Amino acid sequence: MSKQTDDFFKNVISHAKEYGFVFPSSEIYDGLSAVYDYGQMGAELKNNIKTYWWKAMVQLHENIVGLDSAIFMHPTIWKASGHVDGFNDPMIDNKDSKKRYRADQLIEDKIARYVADGKTDKAAKLQADLDTALSADDLPRLKSLIEEHEIVCPVSGTRNWTDVRQFNLMFSTQMGASAEGAEVVYLRPETAQGIFVNFLNVQKTGRQKIPFGIAQIGKAFRNEVIARQFIMRMREFEQMEMQFFVRPGTELDWYAQWKETRLKWHLALGSDQRKYRFHDHVKLAHYANAAVDIEYEFPFGFKEVEGIHSRTDFDLSQHQKFSGKKLQYFDPEINQNYVPYVIETSIGLDRMFLTVLCNAFEEQNISSEEKQDSRTVLHLHPVLAPVKAAIFPLIKKDGLPEKAKEILKQLQLEHNVIYEEKDAIGKRYRRQDAIGTPFCITVDHQTLQDDSVTIRHRDSMEQKRISISALSSKIAELVSWKNLLEQLL
Ligand code: ATP
Repeated sequence: MSKQTDDFFKNVISHAKEYGFVFPSSEIYDGLSAVYDYGQMGAELKNNIKTYWWKAMVQLHENIVGLDSAIFMHPTIWKASGHVDGFNDPMIDNKDSKKRYRADQLIEDKIARYVADGKTDKAAKLQADLDTALSADDLPRLKSLIEEHEIVCPVSGTRNWTDVRQFNLMFSTQMGASAEGAEVVYLRPETAQGIFVNFLNVQKTGRQKIPFGIAQIGKAFRNEVIARQFIMRMREFEQMEMQFFVRPGTELDWYAQWKETRLKWHLALGSDQRKYRFHDHVKLAHYANAAVDIEYEFPFGFKEVEGIHSRTDFDLSQHQKFSGKKLQYFDPEINQNYVPYVIETSIGLDRMFLTVLCNAFEEQNISSEEKQDSRTVLHLHPVLAPVKAAIFPLIKKDGLPEKAKEILKQLQLEHNVIYEEKDAIGKRYRRQDAIGTPFCITVDHQTLQDDSVTIRHRDSMEQKRISISALSSKIAELVSWKNLLEQLL
């Protein structure tokens, strides 16, 4: 990361804390590694992102329905899905610093350094060697790559490494009152399995015909070996996943379709298209016949925000095998029973949140001939903005606060709006810019005479006078779900 992008990212993180978006978890106890809490603004923004996803997936698709399955599931599910035996990361410890690393990430960091130093041939060769070693699950080879490329521990600076070992990422706990009778259960590492095991429940009770999808938003837990880059890699996070069940043989067409649909969803928020790219998986999971990531260019480089996977009939077949229950669908069009194939779209809500923050954050120079000035502004899409409008009385007397509160009460019925009377008006504008509020409405003495107010737009900072009766529709127009969703059609 260059100094400039490093500073940008640090500023995003401190801004997120200062304005109540994201706090480190358990901060008064010095925090808990890779766990975060969403503050008053963060909770609103997160909810709005969830709503955008839910509306785009469930509301706009007649053949997609929602689900809310439990975090705890029968432990055999994780045996069937392959997570008990295969949900591992290769880890390595430095004997001097006692720090633990993901072996593949240490190598990837080295590749990035080769690239930064202009040693592109070396970088390409190491990338190819890494891909080969990962595909073959060749742990000794990962260790030898670390040794050959003289990779040192960032903390101790030494090359005193342990062997590379596999580390299972699932958290386990015990269910049941007594220690003897207790059963080991896992905190789900993905929400998808809750969908697979409910496939027939939903299909039958909802009388769904293939192709159809089931969407779910919920918490997932992974004991990441190293957690870094703020809310990019957390140990407790949220996923928005959709499994689309299709007739075998049609899955690659659906896969191509979902790739486009999902990219459109990201771009409709007004993000710069150049900040997004598809990254095809080099190493396909054993159950997949196609997989791609939608990557966003974070300050620390292009990274996965969402995965789209053609999972074949792997999951349903495994659950059939382990549960002994049939998970088949009778297709009346072709008069056949089959285990459906599945296309999955899986996006991390927290990563999406970070994408939105990075995209929106700007430290803007707004100097004029008269004075030097700057502001920090979040150019959030108005639909996502935590607060849609802030209402200010120009001064705290002459009946202006009462009038402003009257407007607040009226607008509150439709939008998330707030009232502020503290500090000079300029300062109040800055605070709203910093949380991304699209409109500021000011009540002044003229308001008492003609029922008009000034309305200031966040991005242009332009101010206009409009009548109070026009406020509601003015805000509604800008924060309209309809306008946003129409872009997805
Ligand atoms: P990565 O390679 O970054 O570990 P992954 O390929 O394991 O991610 P998936 O299992 O495909 O991720 O999960 C789907 C989505 O869930 C990812 O695209 C990402 O947005 C999100 N996600 C996965 N792990 C985490 C995590 N530890 N913290 C936050 N979000 C995560």
